[in-house]
Amino acid sequence: MKFGIRTPSLKKRIAARTSWKRVVRHSMGLKAPRGYGWITNPKRAAYNRLYNRTTVKADPLIALGVSLIIGLIGGIIKGIAGLFANKEGNTSNSMTCPHCNAPMILRNGTRGRFYGCSRFPRCRGTREYVEPVDGSTNAV
Ligand SMILES: [Zn+2]
Repeated sequence: MKFGIRTPSLKKRIAARTSWKRVVRHSMGLKAPRGYGWITNPKRAAYNRLYNRTTVKADPLIALGVSLIIGLIGGIIKGIAGLFANKEGNTSNSMTCPHCNAPMILRNGTRGRFYGCSRFPRCRGTREYVEPVDGSTNAV
């Protein structure tokens, strides 16, 4: 434990804010409220409280950069999670919208079945539904 003026370390500061455990937890929306440390880990909470009160830091600018990095990593993780979610979704496997490349969904319209863009009504891209003859489906 250090007392007095703390030498700010950018590396340590980023490391503390960008642990995978923390980013994953936050991106799932399980951000613990302030003061929760006393429940999950009272020993660490007591240490942190004392540490924060007995040391002085001097770098308000770095916080901005750190929060930007966190946002970036959080976005990447959400993107990866979205990819996995799409794989198991009920969208037709390799069919994509001719306008925006979004996955297409099989729909039943008044003129029969067709593939509609999953971003409908923002995108009105459609594809003709071809009745699968044998094993080879969308080999156009
Ligand atoms: Zn589309």
